[in-house]
Amino acid sequence: MPEHILLVEDEEKMARMVELELTHEGYDVSKCPDGLTGLQCAEANDFDLILLDVMLPGLSGIEMLRRLRKSKDVPVLLLTARDEVVDKVLGLDSGADDYITKPFAIEELLARIRTALRKSAAAKATGADPGTAATGDKPGNAVLTLGKLTLDAGRHLVAYDGESVELTPKEFELLRCLLENKGMALTRDALLDKVWGYDYIGETNAVDVYIRFLRSKIDEKYGIKLISTIRGIGYRVEE
Ligand code: CA
Repeated sequence: MPEHILLVEDEEKMARMVELELTHEGYDVSKCPDGLTGLQCAEANDFDLILLDVMLPGLSGIEMLRRLRKSKDVPVLLLTARDEVVDKVLGLDSGADDYITKPFAIEELLARIRTALRKSAAAKATGADPGTAATGDKPGNAVLTLGKLTLDAGRHLVAYDGESVELTPKEFELLRCLLENKGMALTRDALLDKVWGYDYIGETNAVDVYIRFLRSKIDEKYGIKLISTIRGIGYRVEE
């Protein structure tokens, strides 16, 4: 049975393009042009995944998601514009599983959809909370430290010198991966594999973008140099 995806997007041209591509890939697609009908549609049906534009007329994507989360744990991928401060938005704990910045390559969107669907299926199979399923197969719930930085994998908390650092799920996974291998240089490909999954076929540039997010939230904020760029290879964390 084909997976059923709800697309909530007010830009008609964009909605039609995405619908066409998804249908071509074998998904069933329903469309809603605004947040309110999107919410009603999402509450009334069991979708396998929701693609949710952030800037919507009436009810914003974030507000729609917040309301939807009271009743549904369907995976949600946010579609955001480049100039929107997505990390802050996600930091509000709106309950999105991932986000993709417009304009995006359709291959990247498809890869993100596959990853989200796979994680959701894995979570259902184990009865786990889909929000933590991605980390379910990783060793333990260790507390990782580096200088004043601590990452509590079990409680999903990051702090610097006792002060909480708000990270999105992907930023958290990336930092965790770096900390688990502290002192070692990790290639962009290795980070992509570990954080985004083996079937991720987007651009390795995603790693650089998320490293930038982490640097702005940790290195720049606290005036330290935690994440080093290893030219031609990738990244390493060290004190
Ligand atoms: Ca929009």
